[in-house]
Amino acid sequence: MPARTDSFDLGRLRLTTGEGRRLALEVALDPLQFGGTTYVTTPPAADATLDISRTTHNGYALRLRFDATLGGPCMRCLEPAQPALSVDAREVDQPGDVEELRSPYVTGDVLDLRAWARDALALALPAQLLCREDCMGLCPVCGTDLNAAGPEHAHERAPDPRWAKLSELKLD
Ligand SMILES: [Zn+2]
Ligand SMILES: [Zn+2]
Repeated sequence: MPARTDSFDLGRLRLTTGEGRRLALEVALDPLQFGGTTYVTTPPAADATLDISRTTHNGYALRLRFDATLGGPCMRCLEPAQPALSVDAREVDQPGDVEELRSPYVTGDVLDLRAWARDALALALPAQLLCREDCMGLCPVCGTDLNAAGPEHAHERAPDPRWAKLSELKLD
């Protein structure tokens, strides 16, 4: 089992320009806020691959890859959903006077792996988290789960709010 790593000291690798290293690490995955709901990853950590390359002028080119499964309600039918996500993120930290390019996750030689993993996971989210791609959601009229009710589920006619108002009138 690789060690759980929240921050990683890149300087420790003592890489020279053009040199690279591939590491297997375990990253903690914090719960994710999405659409007003909290999604928890299961398990709350992932086996990650971190590629580190030393660029010229003391810079780093970084690549982080891991898979994660989220747990939370389906956005259409509210049943439990377990969307699986693949994360493949890249960062460059290049100090320099002219073309400086700093990564928000690198301070000095230390990489904030936990913060990067959290943001990379958020960026990998699809527009909707669903229990399955073709989830039919809830009936807009009565709220029945259409996945369970099947395609035959239908109403004679959607209640017209004008008729509802009329039926409330008390006629003497
Ligand atoms: Zn669903
Ligand atoms: Zn219905």
